[in-house]
Amino acid sequence: MSENCLTLLVVSDLHHMGLARQTAQAQQMRGELAQTLLKKVFLRLRHMGITPDATLVLGDLVEDGADRNASLDLVSLHGELLRSGIPYLVVPGNHDGDPVAFSALFGSEPGLHKIGGYGFVLFNDVYSESHECVRAAEDLAALKKCAEEQPDMPLIAVQHPPIYPAIDSHYPYRPTNAAEIIDAYQKTGVILSLSGHYHKGQKARVHERILYHTVPALCEPPFRFSLIRLADSRVEIEELSLGLQVPNIIDVHCHTEHAYCGTTVDTAPCVALSQALGVTTLCITEHAFQLYFDKPCAMSFRWQADPAMAKAVWETPGRGRMAAYRQFSEKLRSPFVKIGLELDLFNDGHLLLAPEDLDDDWDIFIGAVHAIQGYVPGQTSQQEAERLFLRDVERLLEHDIDVLAHPFRFFKRNRLKVPSHLFATLAGLLADSGVAAEINFHTYQPETPFIRQCAEKGVKIALASDAHDLAEAGEFWPHVNALRQAGITPKMFPETLFTFQGTVAAPS
Ligand SMILES: [Zn+2]
Ligand SMILES: [Zn+2]
Ligand SMILES: [Zn+2]
Repeated sequence: MSENCLTLLVVSDLHHMGLARQTAQAQQMRGELAQTLLKKVFLRLRHMGITPDATLVLGDLVEDGADRNASLDLVSLHGELLRSGIPYLVVPGNHDGDPVAFSALFGSEPGLHKIGGYGFVLFNDVYSESHECVRAAEDLAALKKCAEEQPDMPLIAVQHPPIYPAIDSHYPYRPTNAAEIIDAYQKTGVILSLSGHYHKGQKARVHERILYHTVPALCEPPFRFSLIRLADSRVEIEELSLGLQVPNIIDVHCHTEHAYCGTTVDTAPCVALSQALGVTTLCITEHAFQLYFDKPCAMSFRWQADPAMAKAVWETPGRGRMAAYRQFSEKLRSPFVKIGLELDLFNDGHLLLAPEDLDDDWDIFIGAVHAIQGYVPGQTSQQEAERLFLRDVERLLEHDIDVLAHPFRFFKRNRLKVPSHLFATLAGLLADSGVAAEINFHTYQPETPFIRQCAEKGVKIALASDAHDLAEAGEFWPHVNALRQAGITPKMFPETLFTFQGTVAAPS
């Protein structure tokens, strides 16, 4: 007989404040980041290679359900759930306003919902002015009816308030009739009871054969959520967090509203989010070619073969948008934010950098090979592409760059084979030039054997979000995981990872 299996993503207490008036939230709550945090949860699961069968959201999606824009903020979160493409069930919390309107918006009515052989019973508990709630007698009667009608279906109770164990607090976290609820769950054969509301969360605990789990608030550090795996009546709970679990993480590479290829990565929320998640230093490194040229010209890469185009721009006082970017980024510079550029080459091997911008007032230069003029997709052979790539990397490394961006991504982008026979060669070149190798998951999967080669040769490893989408900011789970796969544990990070000690960007 085949097993009944289900994977659930469970998040709770987002306390989102988007369009609503900003109310004074407790210091540790980050409702202003909540929508991005939710988006980041889905991104994390993609990095982990996990597609849940359903997402459960356990209430308090917004901070103030009475605000005139609360329903629009709920629409934004609904949009994130829809964008994930994963089915979802949502229960309201005490902050979400009218529970009837709430359930109608999400199409998530109280009562029984069947997913993959399991019955999810959703409860819309109602709170009084004094924050107390009582589970309605008719809701418990409905549960009983459910169990009678589906005697073989494992039931999962889904609600905002914690049910078990008791919480030592003056604040009435649990329903006043919690004992009655526990009794009803036992009699109806509920296997799992899921709650939110208590922001610290409560570790999953079995009581009379039922597993009770209170999911911590997504909006508070370390920004936790749960992954639940069901197999028949067995339940396995994994607690995960978006916050970095490892200290001293420098994000060497992220983009801004100046990037033509950027989508949602505005700098201010990127800084706030990275800091909240525990990044130590954030480097803002915009594409120089996109700052100098207008979009069609920049993205055509025609300028690579035509230095006169650059010269014409460099003679203007603004140098395209470079002067504006320098002013913009200078204002952001702080002990947390460092500023730099992502630099490309001309066809002749010179760096695309105006004489005025060739000063010492940068913290970091990232060198990148995005395009090679001699390379014609579909015509240039793999062997020739490898020769051209190596030629340009060698030229890049002659300049004073600190980090080589996304080392082998050029091949994937151009649908070529990633030349693993060049891993040792490139690691050797990086070692000789003292340039760090970047680990970058933006639209790419870095190669573990290359990371290993770099570490063996003493090449520093630089971690990059390369954020073009805000949700990419502060996401270093895949990087830490890739390092682990290459045999580099967090203990080894201090001697392995790129740092700013002794590095001064002074281009030649
Ligand atoms: Zn609550
Ligand atoms: Zn790049
Ligand atoms: Zn980039």
